[in-house]
Amino acid sequence: MFSRVLVANRGEIALRIIRACRELGIESVCVYSEADRGAPYLDLADEAICIGPGPSKESYLNISRIIAAAEVANVDAIHPGYGFLSERAEFAQVCRDCKIEFIGPSPEAMAKLGDKVACKNAAKEAGVPIFPGSPGAIEDEEEACAIAVKIGYPVIIKAAAGGGGRGMRVCHNEMALRTNLRNASQEALNAFGNGAVFIEKFLEHARHVEVQCLGDKHGGAIHLFERDCSMQRRHQKVIEEAPGPHIEAKKRDAVCEAAARLIRSANYSGAATVEFLMDKDQNFYMLEVNTRVQVEHPVTELITGVDIVKEMIRVSAGEKLSLKQADVKTNGHAIECRINAEDPDRNFMPSPGKITRYEPPGGPGVRLDSHVVTGYTVPTNYDSMIGKLLVHAPTRQEAITRMERALREFKVEPIKTTIGLHRRLMADSGFVQGGVDIHYLERLLK
Ligand code: ADP
Repeated sequence: MFSRVLVANRGEIALRIIRACRELGIESVCVYSEADRGAPYLDLADEAICIGPGPSKESYLNISRIIAAAEVANVDAIHPGYGFLSERAEFAQVCRDCKIEFIGPSPEAMAKLGDKVACKNAAKEAGVPIFPGSPGAIEDEEEACAIAVKIGYPVIIKAAAGGGGRGMRVCHNEMALRTNLRNASQEALNAFGNGAVFIEKFLEHARHVEVQCLGDKHGGAIHLFERDCSMQRRHQKVIEEAPGPHIEAKKRDAVCEAAARLIRSANYSGAATVEFLMDKDQNFYMLEVNTRVQVEHPVTELITGVDIVKEMIRVSAGEKLSLKQADVKTNGHAIECRINAEDPDRNFMPSPGKITRYEPPGGPGVRLDSHVVTGYTVPTNYDSMIGKLLVHAPTRQEAITRMERALREFKVEPIKTTIGLHRRLMADSGFVQGGVDIHYLERLLK
């Protein structure tokens, strides 16, 4: 097992990794930018190293500074968390070259599943259903138009290297497709450093269902069942839950087994999430694979009892997965609400600043993953998520009631947060009924 791990991230996920290391008896070294200097979670690590100014490019995205910190701290491994460098195959390769273990998949597995075009090809080979669309990156506008006619409008243009819901364009006719194609590739190049784009069928009224998977370096690959993340705004998840409401047992087995098959076929080690869209008849089509730990991983931890971050660290050190597929059982229902420092009344404008009143909820079945304390200042440099409030209860209805109760206890002032919006959603008839589609929240907010 490792003796020291570098945490190459910030905020709640950095704290989550520090906690896992502590429980495994591993020392943690956390990097930080000048904007995060003095943040209380850094005191919980065994060591903290400043890697540069606030802007991510000069700190959390700066490979040479992070590697320098790892060398100085003499760590065995680096945990990248989510976002930042977590899905850069180049970073995983640099770690390998420097003989530092990257806590995640090999650069090869990451390249195979992390690129959306390559991933669709891998899925096809593994017999995992994908959307009809262009067989690879689009080389030629005429070819794209021919494919669009064949699969039928609407279609969606996506960047092979895209992420975070950015750079996607829905096209309802040929004219829109031609115009958007011309801009999309340049935009993708600017945003992701890779101009490859592809098209696929755009599914209306879909649900977002994703499967948590784990693999080890000995060929082990299992799934930890699904999460439903359909409550979204601008393709960003707002609420996640598990199990997915009203999913038929047969469909659940099929989608979960398909995900595990794909992971196994890539010799994948570490945590991965295979994302799908599910139509009204519960047919599912793979969207992409996230080759890292996800924000919403605790939802699955609550219903399965598996510590995903610890499993990641153990398999990275060469251990076998601590459980087999048959050992994975689910218990009850879990819901996660993302608490963002944003003002829902002002088009979700970021609301950074100092928190002078912070009263976290507690009691039975409540988990709060957050790095915030009273007196903490939310910096302006990074995304606005300040924590994740989770509940676990025997049934979905009890989980909703429990979440409402926990949200009522939760006080964060004077900055604006999404707590009020979540309370409204816990009482919303569509959410309570379960099984909303991915555009439901945007319709509700109009
Ligand atoms: P990203 O990597 O940017 O998160 P994804 O491919 O995971 O992109 O898609 C994000 C979201 O965009 C999905 O959850 C869904 O809401 C929407 N979306 C993506 N592809 C389609 C599609 N073919 N049809 C309908 N909606 C889609």
